[in-house]
Amino acid sequence: MIPAAPLIDTFNRVMGDLRISLTDRCNFRCLYCLPETEAAANFYQQRFAPAGRTFSTEPIRRQWQPRTALLSYEEIARVVRIVAGLGIRKIRLTGGEPLLRQNVEEVVRLIASVPGIEDLALTTNGFNFHEQAAALKDAGLRRVSFSLDSLDGDNFKRITGQDCLDTVIANIRRAQSMGFRPVKVNAVVIRDVNDHEVGALAQFARDEGVAMRFIEFMPLDSARAWLKELVVPGAEILSLIRREHELEPLPARHAAETSRRWRLAGSDAEIGIIAPVTEPFCGQCNRLRLTADGHIRTCLFSLREPDLKALLRDGSSDEKIVAWLRAVVWNKEERHHIGEADYQQPDRSMSCIGG
Ligand code: SAM
Ligand code: SF4
Repeated sequence: MIPAAPLIDTFNRVMGDLRISLTDRCNFRCLYCLPETEAAANFYQQRFAPAGRTFSTEPIRRQWQPRTALLSYEEIARVVRIVAGLGIRKIRLTGGEPLLRQNVEEVVRLIASVPGIEDLALTTNGFNFHEQAAALKDAGLRRVSFSLDSLDGDNFKRITGQDCLDTVIANIRRAQSMGFRPVKVNAVVIRDVNDHEVGALAQFARDEGVAMRFIEFMPLDSARAWLKELVVPGAEILSLIRREHELEPLPARHAAETSRRWRLAGSDAEIGIIAPVTEPFCGQCNRLRLTADGHIRTCLFSLREPDLKALLRDGSSDEKIVAWLRAVVWNKEERHHIGEADYQQPDRSMSCIGG
């Protein structure tokens, strides 16, 4: 059989990576994602007041999708089979909090058996990972990323709205000891929130042998509370880490890599910096997203969301879906416009899009 032509866009970028949101729901209320806690309101209100702006805890648009609106695991597996035939090799399951969906191991098993899928990973806040870890491993999951923005219990609670730092750390260790590789840990760095902790988080990477990723704060929170002043630029994160750690640069593994990486000298642990705001990597972006309710997003910052679920549910053939996907991908946005006068925040926030 002649392999089908890959999914390609106007800028000659060849798609290789699909992120699938399993649910828009979440049990955390992270200050940078779903800032709906009193702590988040206090934090943003202080920053808004000097400009005469008022922070509203009313989310701009957050109505959890009803269950029937979510793609079933069979529908997700069909999409994966189709895109695997078009050159997608990496799948990441995300959300919202993906582990809030029932029996996630079922979709893991379905995806893991699709020919052509070489890399299957999951991103979680780690809250209930222990309940599902064994089943996920057994079903074929190999890689897990956790979110961990602070090593201080009070600060963790202030950032996430949940008092469960110990559980998340125990689950990161569990993933390590169960042989998930690599275990990655993501921290969104926000000025005056956790920028004083980046050295300690790098030390955590060294102590635990995990790959730590420091991420710039992007304007995708549900309250549109993002402020440029709160972004700690990647270069600044790097110098904060260098104050406490010796770093050795690591080469990029492929052109579409989003993080710049370093090894912590004298260890196997690595850190990476993901700087989409100050050092955009749009020119090499090979990612697509599938929302929990079955829309395709060709960019995190897309203002349009073509509806794939309609085709999955109206009896369309795989051939028709392939033609539709090619047309959608062809129109992938050239780049994001964060920080520019014409930047327009998408209607849906990170937890709905699937980070
Ligand atoms: N709930 C899971 C978790 O937190 O890991 C998966 C979904 S979450 C939306 C995926 C990733 O997006 C997390 O690593 C989170 O830190 C990141 N994220 C969420 N909002 C963000 C923002 N405004 N800027 C940068 N990263 C963000
Ligand atoms: Fe939930 Fe993840 Fe968003 Fe935090 S970052 S609110 S854990 S979806």
